[in-house]
Amino acid sequence: MSKINKQYDFVIIGSGPAGSILAWNLAKSNFKVAIIDRATNIKIFNDKNSFIFTPYINNSPNYYTPLFSNQLGGNSALWNNKISLITKEEFVSGKWPFNYEELLAYSKNLAKQLDLDHQKISFVDDFKNIKFSRSTRAKKLGNLYFSLKISDHKNIDIYHSSSPVNINSNEDCVKKINIKNIKGEISELKINKALIFCAGGLGNPHILKNLLKDHNTLIGKKLSDHPHINIGNLSKNDISEFINFSKYFINNSEQMDEDSLFLSLKNYFVGLQVDFSQDPSRILKRLFIKSRSFLSKKLLSLLINYYSLFLKFLSLLKIRGKYSFELFFSQNQNLNNLMELDPNSKDEFDLVKSNIIWDFTRDELDIYNHLINQLIGKEGLLLKTNNFFKFRKNKIMAGLHPSCTTQIDNENNLGCVDKNLKLKGYDNIFINGSSVFPNNGFTNPTWTIMTLSNRLSKHLEDL
Ligand SMILES: Cc1cc2nc3c(=O)[nH]c(=O)nc-3n(C[C@H](O)[C@H](O)[C@H](O)COP(=O)(O)OP(=O)(O)OC[C@H]3O[C@@H](n4cnc5c(N)ncnc54)[C@H](O)[C@@H]3O)c2cc1C
Repeated sequence: MSKINKQYDFVIIGSGPAGSILAWNLAKSNFKVAIIDRATNIKIFNDKNSFIFTPYINNSPNYYTPLFSNQLGGNSALWNNKISLITKEEFVSGKWPFNYEELLAYSKNLAKQLDLDHQKISFVDDFKNIKFSRSTRAKKLGNLYFSLKISDHKNIDIYHSSSPVNINSNEDCVKKINIKNIKGEISELKINKALIFCAGGLGNPHILKNLLKDHNTLIGKKLSDHPHINIGNLSKNDISEFINFSKYFINNSEQMDEDSLFLSLKNYFVGLQVDFSQDPSRILKRLFIKSRSFLSKKLLSLLINYYSLFLKFLSLLKIRGKYSFELFFSQNQNLNNLMELDPNSKDEFDLVKSNIIWDFTRDELDIYNHLINQLIGKEGLLLKTNNFFKFRKNKIMAGLHPSCTTQIDNENNLGCVDKNLKLKGYDNIFINGSSVFPNNGFTNPTWTIMTLSNRLSKHLEDL
């Protein structure tokens, strides 16, 4: 039974960085926009420890634990605000179907709109023949839904605690969708111009597989991530040797922003950041995400909160634990890594849930080990140590940067969306997010996603 029957120029699924930047731009150009988000937590602003098990995933490997904020603003409620534009090397390696200069122009334009220093966002340099980029922490961005004041905009309506459940298309053009809220009420929204999916790297393939009957068989395939691993415990001596060695590479020991090296081997990229201590909260967070019982969730969330307070206290006293290197790797595309529907399980909107199948190839493990030891092994480029560091699956953190599941066309035309992010087979469905990336490099994805939304909004305005 339809409750609301409203008409919009654009309907956007997802209020994370992709959806918020898109809605913000379109609304500024006077279009009527609706944002639909399944998040049910609309009061908490940027609470980093309030995440839940991704509600539309039934099963995933133990070492693949995607976080879901369940807040408006998507995972920008949880992120660390580290931004940098994908490097030209990664862009070229992914064979993106347009010029890097075009992306750069949209990135500069967005930085200007948000009053950020673009030089810091696309900083690339050489140091002793190793190329590197550096992220900048743009704390003021925070949860983008709130920092852009999306809910105050007169041209934007928000439907939270809701998901699309049905698409009505006439030929290949979507004219209306039905959305359902968690109370089970169904509404109909009419679409004048376009429907845009900004539901995240896993959310996009999940919802598209549910809604599109004859969906492209590539949707959900080639799931790539950006596995992080903490390698250490390094002593203070080790770390100061590293810092002395690379004064230029790292600003200073107190303010260690993320630095990503372009060390590449057979098209694999590695990023590196000096961190402090192997973080026990990771283990707690992983247990929390995996745990389904209310009591253990409560207990674990208390422990995580206390641990965060403890860390804050230590940092106030300028006490740090042991240091470690945080390395993160790109991943090659593999058709065996995928998200698929699990017909035996349903979520709160009666959508079929998904399972995640994701692993590394033997080749990848060998390359990661080689890259690690090239950096900090016996002949380490950045630090010579006698330790033999090994990439171990059970030590990694993965699932924070799911990509490539609705990938953009590159030279073989084997993507799900064209160069304007339009879903193939439909005239007015578009997709944005890391799901459209043709490959997963080492650069944190969000600024590139926001830049793509800036680019997409210009395209949509001309429809
Ligand atoms: C702990 C953590 C730290 C991170 N740190 C960084 C960092 O420092 N730098 C960086 O670049 N990136 C970082 N990231 C990644 C960053 O959060 C994501 O790249 C970014 O949020 C992706 O934006 P998005 O809008 O594409 O998707 P999301 O932020 O995931 O937003 C998707 C939205 O879609 C909604 N949605 C999903 N399915 C449906 C549905 N069926 N119906 C309606 N709505 C739906 C979700 O509720 C969500 O609000 C981090 C992530 C985590 C978890």
